[in-house]
Amino acid sequence: MAQTATTDPQLGVRRPALSPSRASDFKQCPLLYRFRAVDRLPEVPTKAQLRGTLVHSVLERLFALPKTDREPDRARELLAPTWSELSADNPEWAELFDGEDVQGWLESATKLLDSYFQLEDPRRFDPEACELHVELELESGVRLRGYVDRLDVAPTGEIRVVDYKTGAAPREIGEAKAMFQMKFYAVVLWRLRGVVPRQLKLMYLTDGQSLAYAPDEAELRRFERTLEAIWQAILKAGKTGDFRPSPSRLCDWCAHQSLCPSFGGTPPEYPGWPEPDPGVETALDRAD
Ligand code: SF4
Repeated sequence: MAQTATTDPQLGVRRPALSPSRASDFKQCPLLYRFRAVDRLPEVPTKAQLRGTLVHSVLERLFALPKTDREPDRARELLAPTWSELSADNPEWAELFDGEDVQGWLESATKLLDSYFQLEDPRRFDPEACELHVELELESGVRLRGYVDRLDVAPTGEIRVVDYKTGAAPREIGEAKAMFQMKFYAVVLWRLRGVVPRQLKLMYLTDGQSLAYAPDEAELRRFERTLEAIWQAILKAGKTGDFRPSPSRLCDWCAHQSLCPSFGGTPPEYPGWPEPDPGVETALDRAD
């Protein structure tokens, strides 16, 4: 995610910000970025994406319960009412199940929750925040914005950033992308709080495994420059409309192959750079 419009409280204007989903899109394939952030072509979510969104929401609600209530059965009980609320807010999601067995799909989400409980016991700690909105402007003027799935802060002040991965893509394909997003959050938290996060933790709920990484300040400094360079590259491409396709295995998950020259398609005419609001990050992006 690279950009979302944000409101500057001092200037009272909406300002573009780089988000991890769109930044990751641009890094993967500039044309994919263009389709999502500039053309804003609609994408029909897959049921796997919706399941990920649902499970993220259930885990957020689970942590809102008293510690002693955070048990597997309680989490499963949250699935149906949480889906009712999500589908009421997004009726087009419910339409994807036209005539299909929603109950069976809900039950498939229990497997992700069961995987979660194999990885940790949520009765043993309280996170500082779930679905935390973070945003700041770097000295270079590049504004970063994102949502952290969960932030744990130890009594000693050590920070752990946690991201739940629920996507259908094989883990080895998504791992570099996931780590990119985690470093993005680490830079934002480091700059906001003056503390380098002690641990970036990815929890893969499809296969019940986790990956932990300890960044250091020099690395985050370099990564910050990478983000600034990505933003400059986006602005440059935005002026000319020169967003080139960059085919990879990830094309299998691209909703826009029919418009992509690498697959024999033709992109729509470039609509121009949509300042000051070049794109938004959705709940589906966040639950990837
Ligand atoms: S199909 Fe592949 S190369 Fe084409 S826009 Fe999508 S991600 Fe990029």
